[in-house]
Amino acid sequence: MYHIEEFRNKTTVRNYLEHYVDVAIFLEYCKACRCYGRIWSCPPYDFEPEAYWGKYRYVHILGTKISFDREAIDKEKGKEEAAAYIRQVYLNAKEQLSEKMYGLEQRYPGSVTLSAGNCTICSECTRPAGQVCLHPDRMRYSIEALGGNVVKTAEELLGVRIQWSDGDLPEYLTLVNGLLTDDPGAEI
Ligand code: SF4
Repeated sequence: MYHIEEFRNKTTVRNYLEHYVDVAIFLEYCKACRCYGRIWSCPPYDFEPEAYWGKYRYVHILGTKISFDREAIDKEKGKEEAAAYIRQVYLNAKEQLSEKMYGLEQRYPGSVTLSAGNCTICSECTRPAGQVCLHPDRMRYSIEALGGNVVKTAEELLGVRIQWSDGDLPEYLTLVNGLLTDDPGAEI
């Protein structure tokens, strides 16, 4: 009832910072989100996002597009169950992508990956309680949380248009992960 396509590209962090990152603008979007200040992977941070990007020379982008056969899903599951089904497909894909990205970090020592969206490892983040992150070894920041323009990234670097839902279920979902590395030979 769905199929997955992957899209990849690579550029220098210098180019990415110049054309795809605007920390001040995206911080304002983050402030309007319920995750702001409530999840350790989200702003505000005790470091400068530009400096985080700047520790690496290259950024690889991996786009994962999940296209749904809406007709088949609606027919088999009904509208309400369809929404839950699509959410579950999304969460499963996000988890599998995280495992894949941890594997890339192992393959390219010194690299770090960027998550598709905010951290969802724990059912409740410890941040609102003022406690430290429970899994700092697994928590990763997302492109957008570090000021990256995911829509522009997907369109210009991957050739994928991000589809927004206006209440209806989307025809497809796009997850965007990244790998920051100094290794010029890295491939994702
Ligand atoms: S790993 Fe858990 S505690 Fe850490 S940021 Fe993610 S949800 Fe929060």
